[in-house]
Amino acid sequence: MSKAEARQLVEYMRKIQRRMGLNEWRISLEIYEQTELPSRLWLEGEAGIGYMSSWHEQRSATLHVVAYPRDLTIRQIIRHEVAHLLLEPMWRVVKRVEKPLGSTAWEIISEAYREAEEIAVNRIMRAMS
Ligand SMILES: [Zn+2]
Repeated sequence: MSKAEARQLVEYMRKIQRRMGLNEWRISLEIYEQTELPSRLWLEGEAGIGYMSSWHEQRSATLHVVAYPRDLTIRQIIRHEVAHLLLEPMWRVVKRVEKPLGSTAWEIISEAYREAEEIAVNRIMRAMS
């Protein structure tokens, strides 16, 4: 991918970030010149093509995305991952019950939450396309 293309994607990500009202976040874009992310960034449900790491206290995030995704465009992945960041405050609320619940209940609740978040993110993504 050329530097000009990468710059355009960063501009696009900033535009989506502004549209979602995430102006306080500093998001960097890391593009991998391959069709799958490195294994350390492979998360269930994301098909290994895009992943957002975020640090809430610093309002800082890194969007990892592959340059050559098989089924989606990079812009679709960017919209999807930025929408996950939009819902990040909800996840922090859910996280508060992790210790009180114990591991079995936490596993059930966190998985159900992740599935529900994925549905919401896909709906937001469709609404913005
Ligand atoms: Zn997702």
